[in-house]
Amino acid sequence: MTAENRPGRHPGSGGSSERPARVEHNPKHPHWTCAVDGEDWPCRTARTRLSKAYEEDPAALTVHMAHLMLTATDHIQTPAPATLYHRFVRWTLPKATTCRVCGKRGHDVLPGFPPRLFPCDKLHEGVRKLGHTLGTDTR
Ligand SMILES: [Zn+2]
Ligand SMILES: [Zn+2]
Repeated sequence: MTAENRPGRHPGSGGSSERPARVEHNPKHPHWTCAVDGEDWPCRTARTRLSKAYEEDPAALTVHMAHLMLTATDHIQTPAPATLYHRFVRWTLPKATTCRVCGKRGHDVLPGFPPRLFPCDKLHEGVRKLGHTLGTDTR
């Protein structure tokens, strides 16, 4: 008979009471703060993890974050959408990104999202003039 020796085990503590206290850096609604560190989500850790997860397709990350921003605008009452844009989307863009509407650096717009999400003056101007743009919904 082989007596197995497992020094790591501590019997007698009432069975399987060990719980992996693994808390993810997920957003806590309705304020979209990190569940772990309380930072505005995406926190530093969340950004790092998201970047890794979307390493192969950074453009998909931008779209993913834009979707989250759209959801967040319904929860967070912020006066300036630009703040949310910077928080959710801006950091996903490659440094050399220029706006496809106004040509400026530091932001870009995404087709299929409400123009109000993007801090682009020219886009908003176009929306006012034309009543529509890029096939985005203008609510
Ligand atoms: Zn966090
Ligand atoms: Zn622009």
